[in-house]
Amino acid sequence: MSTIRVTVWNEYRHEKQNQHVASIYPRGIHHAIGDYLSGIEGLEIGTATLDEPEHGLTEEVLANTDVLIWWGHLAHAEVRDDIVEKVRERVLDGMGLIVLHSGHGSKLFERLLGTRTGRLKWRDDGELERVWVVEPGHPIADGLGDCFEIPKEEMYGERFDIPAPDELIFISWFEGGEVFRSGCTYRRGKGKLFYFRPGHETFPIYHQPEVLKVIGNAVRWAAPNPGAAVISGRMEPIHPTSKA
Ligand code: ZN
Repeated sequence: MSTIRVTVWNEYRHEKQNQHVASIYPRGIHHAIGDYLSGIEGLEIGTATLDEPEHGLTEEVLANTDVLIWWGHLAHAEVRDDIVEKVRERVLDGMGLIVLHSGHGSKLFERLLGTRTGRLKWRDDGELERVWVVEPGHPIADGLGDCFEIPKEEMYGERFDIPAPDELIFISWFEGGEVFRSGCTYRRGKGKLFYFRPGHETFPIYHQPEVLKVIGNAVRWAAPNPGAAVISGRMEPIHPTSKA
């Protein structure tokens, strides 16, 4: 099995600005996720953050990334348009992309899916979330049971302004009554995209085994599978035709 090169991108602002978030993620959300993924055989992990030059997403980093993970919230507007475009093109060329939680509001998500920043309902009260597996047997749900609970989470409620997903893997129910499409897959060009809802920064979501398991599964699922070269444009017929 060939190595999958993963880059975990994090805006990395909450952790610097809020002591509570810093106590949950002393080295940032990107390292919490990265440390887990580092323990999986066959994955090679790098990280990148908003405040690095080119947001840590240089041509070289992107060229050497098979799957990009994206967490952002406060500073979507600060992500440079030219870098969003480069990442989008890499996805169309086959790089996998996993967008987490508030990443629904990112320029990248908006441009790849054609949404108005994935509008939704929310309530930050630390409610119970029950994540239902609605596509058992899907590689992203591998190793999970019928459902799992996240004891305290931010609520996201429908309607979620997204195009109908290719596959719906998870539906969440929240204590307050709302439901949400929490695990959605798409294909864009040659790239595979997975949106996964959990991950509000004030709760230890990326320390929870089920959540990390889903992210690890999604990395394997989203890894590029190059296939045959795509040929387009005017073609000579393969067999003689009456027009020849
Ligand atoms: Zn949140």
